[in-house]
Amino acid sequence: MLQTIAGFDRIGEENAFAVLARAADLAAQGRDIVSLGIGQPDFPTPPHIVEAAIKALRDGHHGYTPATGIAPLREAVATDLNKRYGVDVSPGLVAVVPGGKITMFASILMFGEPGVDILYPDPGFPIYRSMIEFTGANPIPIPVREENGFAFSAEETLSLVTPKTRLIILNSPANPTGGVTPKSEVDKFVAGMEKHPNVAIMSDEIYDQMVYDGEKHVCLLTYPSIRDRLILLNGWSKTYAMTGWRMGYSIWPQSLYENIRKLAVNAWSCVNAPSQYAALAALTGPQDAVHHMVAEFDKRRKVVVTELNKLPGISCATPKGAFYAFPNIKNTGWKAKKLASSLLEESGVAIIGGPDFGILGEGYVRLSYANSTENILKAIDRMGEFLSSRKAA
Ligand code: PLP
Repeated sequence: MLQTIAGFDRIGEENAFAVLARAADLAAQGRDIVSLGIGQPDFPTPPHIVEAAIKALRDGHHGYTPATGIAPLREAVATDLNKRYGVDVSPGLVAVVPGGKITMFASILMFGEPGVDILYPDPGFPIYRSMIEFTGANPIPIPVREENGFAFSAEETLSLVTPKTRLIILNSPANPTGGVTPKSEVDKFVAGMEKHPNVAIMSDEIYDQMVYDGEKHVCLLTYPSIRDRLILLNGWSKTYAMTGWRMGYSIWPQSLYENIRKLAVNAWSCVNAPSQYAALAALTGPQDAVHHMVAEFDKRRKVVVTELNKLPGISCATPKGAFYAFPNIKNTGWKAKKLASSLLEESGVAIIGGPDFGILGEGYVRLSYANSTENILKAIDRMGEFLSSRKAA
């Protein structure tokens, strides 16, 4: 028997990928499947970005690049953050990484070990907990509650900090709830963190451009008092419909930058060169496609909420960001995962059960509305038929 480290017995998964695979199997068998499971824009990557990658290949950008990314891309990230949030970011603290996940992977690896606590949102992106458990650290859930508009509570989060806490993970706009934490709550959190100068913060802001109703995203880089211990996670996957390109970036405090650079050298050398040129075109080129996508998501958001609220036993709060709805299904009598799997097998609708995002996800399901209005209506119609014809199991 081969003996691997214990971490691999604890590492988890992102069930959205399993649902995607099952939906593809069923479709291959000839079933008509509507997928509201996986969280990726249904738009193609804008053509000028694709062209930039092709041009990069034609221009001979076939080799390694600096481990943390080509200089013009790191500069473009800094300029973009300055333009959008008025913050000064040194390009020397930008790390271009292969996708959003790598920043959480790297930061959890830097702080996690047996005996320490890492706080993370529950329900939240499943990889946070999975990676915390991999390192042997204690995963401490920060409850994300519907009655709070699925925003995290500063007071509750701060109350969970102990001398064992090393890292706090925050995510707004949030997956899977679509919750957006208001500035007043972030202000309170940051003020409270002054008492905990040795605790790092990883702020996952991958949905920062998807905030609705005229609200403005609150970027944690705008708080100088935590800049020396803030890791910002962002990337191109969601904003530019580039999930398959594997392009992400992070902003690191000076004291951690050598760690991420060396991790890159050890693990992935650099992000593939043509994708970096594509990402550069994304940031420096026209932003119309982003605005168009976000406006579309906003329209669909309203459709999803209106239609879900017509279904028996379902109530759906209006998500304020990202492209997910997280309806409460408690009054249907169904357990969330059973409902999700039965809907896929029997009605051909792929959604994700709330417990795939944490213990507090029971009683909810996640629908990604990054799909056409026609498909959204078809999916919700099928859900309605299913719920009125089937007894809860
Ligand atoms: N962070 C959150 C909150 C996400 O929802 C996702 C993807 O679903 C990611 C990070 C990972 O993004 P990427 O596909 O770029 O690794």
